[in-house]
Amino acid sequence: LGHARTLWDLLARRAALTPDRPVLLQGDRRLTFGELRARAERVAAGLYGMGVRPGTVVAWQLPTRIETALLSFALARLGAVQSPVIPFYRDREVGFALRESKAEFFAVPGVWRGHDHTETARRLGAKGIFEAYDTLPDGDPATLPAPPAEGTSVRWIYWTSGTTSDPKGVLHTDRSLIAGGSCLAHALRLTADDVGSIAFPYAHIGGPDYMVMLLLYGFPAVMFEHFALPDALPEYRRHRVTVAGGSTAFYSLFLAEQRKQPGDKLIPSLRLLAGGGAPKPPEVYHCVVREMDVQLTHGYGMTEVPMITMGDPRDTPEHLATTEGRPPAGMEIRITDGEVRLRGEAVCRGYLDPAQTAAAFDTDGFLRTGDLGRVTESGHLVLTGRLKDVIIRKGENISAKEIEDLLAAHPAIADAAVIGLPDADRGELVCAVVEQPPGAAGLTLPELVSYLRAAGLSVHKLPERLEVVEALPRNETLRKVLKYKLRDRYSRPLP
Ligand code: ATP
Ligand code: MG
Repeated sequence: LGHARTLWDLLARRAALTPDRPVLLQGDRRLTFGELRARAERVAAGLYGMGVRPGTVVAWQLPTRIETALLSFALARLGAVQSPVIPFYRDREVGFALRESKAEFFAVPGVWRGHDHTETARRLGAKGIFEAYDTLPDGDPATLPAPPAEGTSVRWIYWTSGTTSDPKGVLHTDRSLIAGGSCLAHALRLTADDVGSIAFPYAHIGGPDYMVMLLLYGFPAVMFEHFALPDALPEYRRHRVTVAGGSTAFYSLFLAEQRKQPGDKLIPSLRLLAGGGAPKPPEVYHCVVREMDVQLTHGYGMTEVPMITMGDPRDTPEHLATTEGRPPAGMEIRITDGEVRLRGEAVCRGYLDPAQTAAAFDTDGFLRTGDLGRVTESGHLVLTGRLKDVIIRKGENISAKEIEDLLAAHPAIADAAVIGLPDADRGELVCAVVEQPPGAAGLTLPELVSYLRAAGLSVHKLPERLEVVEALPRNETLRKVLKYKLRDRYSRPLP
């Protein structure tokens, strides 16, 4: 199946192989591989009747539901160009995505979680607005042209999280998404007996990546439209989920639930918690494995390359705790000037903006990730921070991540972000912004400094400023900390 050229081809082959096996489970609903293929084809015919053709740009901002998967596969069947937008996004991001992608159609959920998406879409001047929540376009598949023959044209525009600047439109092909999903499935050592879960926004690049895994191996996943772990637990148990997770944020979510019933395995069927997308303090790995009695594998990915490296459940605990794992076959990693650069089939074609593409790719095709890292002798990748997240104090480079990892192990700190702030004498000064768990004793800068010194941090890296906040500003997709907001908030103009 890995030789499938397009996403539709992959679905067609899987549906021919195991038509009656379930692929998506949501509440009491269950969709089989055969139904996914047949129903998506009807939706494709409906879209075709509306004027969607191969290459037509269709944006959609839809929640994590079976219907969304149907619509997305219908667009893949037509060979349209789809641009998924995270459902929590509001005017600024939605307007940006519609404008930049020049979408000719925009699928919305109507009123969802109290927000009127249709009204917003109209106000933003979106073209071809249609609702795709309970009912989807429908038509006779006999009217459809042949499915796309190749998987190398751009058919996906994804949006980066906008952590470092405005989101960038990332161009993917069916081939690059299939390559990403195959590598992920292989790295996690999944089998047809697994049961997965889609608890993150389907509109994230992880959506089709996850579907590729399901199609390749023929196992199902439980989908959550409104994800809250306590409510989701009965579903995980009922469907005997074996692989859970999503992003780095899930580790502490699961751990917190587990701590309410120590010694009693939270989800008896669970064997693997898998996540990534943001740094993970090594301590979290040990806590999850010890307290939850599951394996944890952590990976490195980005909108541009959904799967770069992934921990292998058979690695040593040391490697799993402190590295991002190894790259799959076909992924070349090169470190130049400390920056991780990548080449391989799962790498995107570029950005919507050709100037961004030119700036991001080396002449021999390696993508500059903006991430700093090194490869160990055993071939494991260790990320040390982001290029844009290096603090330069008196000419010395300081990695925010090193300090954040130490802070995360402090009992009175729930999470921490370390930023550089402009400073007349030092160039930048080191500022620690910490989030405290409810009821924790207040922290002072001198206490923090002596804690970090005792933990072995060099003197020149010690924070010179401390800000305590109730909650760090985060994005809605992966709950990533938005450091640019912190920098804006705490920067004082240079005297
Ligand atoms: P933007 O590019 O718009 O500023 P972004 O880079 O945060 O936003 P994403 O594509 O969602 O947008 O995130 C990819 C980035 O997330 C990576 O470049 C890396 O910095 C970070 N990341 C991903 N996985 C890991 C990981 N395992 N450990 C540390 N950082 C990670
Ligand atoms: Mg990025």
